[in-house]
Amino acid sequence: MQIYGKHIRETLKQRIYQTARQISMKMAVVQVGDDQPSQVYVNSIRRFGEEVGVAIEVYNLPASVQQSQVEELIRQLNNDPDTTGIMIQTPLPDHLNTSYLVNSIQPSKDVEGIHNYNLGKLISREEGVKPSTPKAIVRMLKEHDVLISGKNVTIVGRSTIVGSPLAVMMTAEDGTVTLCHSRTGDLAAETRRADILIVAIGRKNFITADMVKEGAVIIDAGINFNEDGKMVGDVAEEAKEKASLASAVPGGVGVITVAELFDNLCILAESSSSHN
Ligand code: NAP
Repeated sequence: MQIYGKHIRETLKQRIYQTARQISMKMAVVQVGDDQPSQVYVNSIRRFGEEVGVAIEVYNLPASVQQSQVEELIRQLNNDPDTTGIMIQTPLPDHLNTSYLVNSIQPSKDVEGIHNYNLGKLISREEGVKPSTPKAIVRMLKEHDVLISGKNVTIVGRSTIVGSPLAVMMTAEDGTVTLCHSRTGDLAAETRRADILIVAIGRKNFITADMVKEGAVIIDAGINFNEDGKMVGDVAEEAKEKASLASAVPGGVGVITVAELFDNLCILAESSSSHN
């Protein structure tokens, strides 16, 4: 059975809308250059912001911008009392130091939950903001009553925004986690052991039916485009047919991710208003 993210997004949207009526919130998005997928994501943030009544300020910087100029902008946003959350849209041009810039955001304004301080809190299992895509995946599993505790969870892809934090979060849910990547020796053996298989690598239809256990739960976070411009995931349709539940692409994890970003903004706003 295919599972979708729309109703989860709508539920989150209602909650965010209510919070935005009680606490004024503003998100600053720092965007460098004109990367097309980045533009699509930033537009979806703008639209969601309009729908829930949250102000979004996008700072469009040219691809030639210097590191020091981006640092200065982040310093100003850190000091701006009206800015609740800051995100830097990636990928950044090669001459910019992404990690340094992300870690120059004040942790209390790190709306993506990817500052080293917040990742440290994630590992220590403290409350706080968490990266949006892993949050969306865990929420999707829970909303569909998928038991994680004691299950073999195989994650394919170890990026700092998806696979690695997800491994920490699924371990915190008492799953037994195997984290795979491009150097994994026998990937099919690892994926076939999975009760819950989560894939985020960015290669269309990479996971085939022979790599999946009958009845497994599959979460496909991949976003790729085929020759006709149609969006497809990392998991082939015939592999999803063997699953008891499989997330759709499009319409699955991706539609929840933006809502999770705004959920993080609410967490930051609530935390800052309780400290004032
Ligand atoms: P990324 O930073 O490029 O990381 C890709 C990961 O996949 C790496 O860990 C890489 O291994 C692994 N990988 C690549 N080829 C592999 C192979 N042949 N076998 C096993 N592992 C392989 O990508 P990302 O930012 O995590 O994004 C991954 C996918 O998720 C993309 O399609 C992206 O569009 C999508 N995504 C979706 C959402 C959403 O909201 N749905 C959000 C973010 C990303 P190494 O570490 O060894 O290189």
